[in-house]
Amino acid sequence: IRFSDAKGWHDAHVTARVPLTIDPASSVLHYAQEIFEGMKAYRLADGGTALFRPEANAARFRDSARRMAMAELPEDMFIESIERLVAVDRDWIPDGDGALYLRPFMFASEVFLGVKPSAEYLYMVIASSVGAYWKGGVRAIKVWVSREHTRAAAGGTGAAKCGGNYAASLIAQKDAIARGCDQVVFLDAAERRWIEELGGMNLFFVHADGSLRTPPLTGTILPGITRDSILTLARDAGMTVYEQPYSIDQWRDDAKSGQLIEAFACGTAAVVTPIGQVADRDGDFTIGNGAGGSVTDRLHQALVAIQRGTAPDPHGWLHRLD
Ligand code: PMP
Repeated sequence: IRFSDAKGWHDAHVTARVPLTIDPASSVLHYAQEIFEGMKAYRLADGGTALFRPEANAARFRDSARRMAMAELPEDMFIESIERLVAVDRDWIPDGDGALYLRPFMFASEVFLGVKPSAEYLYMVIASSVGAYWKGGVRAIKVWVSREHTRAAAGGTGAAKCGGNYAASLIAQKDAIARGCDQVVFLDAAERRWIEELGGMNLFFVHADGSLRTPPLTGTILPGITRDSILTLARDAGMTVYEQPYSIDQWRDDAKSGQLIEAFACGTAAVVTPIGQVADRDGDFTIGNGAGGSVTDRLHQALVAIQRGTAPDPHGWLHRLD
């Protein structure tokens, strides 16, 4: 779908995937006005297909557009675009643990070298089949706490799903891999003390008293749809949940004293991933037995059961496509 100040949204169509030709002076190549979403179409237990909370992706896409001074795609057009693409690509949705990954994105396409919001945008969705994220079962990951780089500062774009956030965080992910870890943990930019999120997942902490804690949405972390779903499922299960700041020092102390028994990350791609080990400048530590735990497992299974249509969907999260 194209947008121009003069015509509004126009030219919606589904086509075979072909390379794009863009002018070297296209605004996105210089000023990085680009946003995206990540979502999945699932094959349900009854053979149907469904999206998981696409309204939430549509709303977040719109919020990202607003923050990046881009044209805001109406939410019904966003959802219709996904529905039309999945209708064409339905046969590519794998059975079993796989899904059809959908990547809606939008970029500034005006050919103009001045620093100002583009007057033209191109919105597209691409789809690709993905297999089970964890081949051979879920594995607890090891994370590296970045002390050098932060992902987002107050007043910045941390809550938007824009390419620039990822460009800025890749170096820290590279550091994590170089140190033998799977993922990077970002701390807040102001004090380098408060835990924020991973490069592409939100974080949760399970304490020995049975409570669940996650960093609050203060504008510097991405408001994950999986995060929101986990919070809801935990409340449904009667758990006490805190959306409160949690410091790296507290995390270490709580893990060592046994007050913290599990930690996990969550996002659309892996759904829920246990964290087993933390590598940090001030000392490495292990979470619980280093292999995940039963609260993480239960929340993971509860969410997957709704996404796959094997459990009731009390919050109306499934958006059926047939
Ligand atoms: N944080 C970041 C930085 C991410 O890229 C993602 C993935 N979109 C998430 C958190 C998790 O968000 P969601 O649950 O909506 O996939």
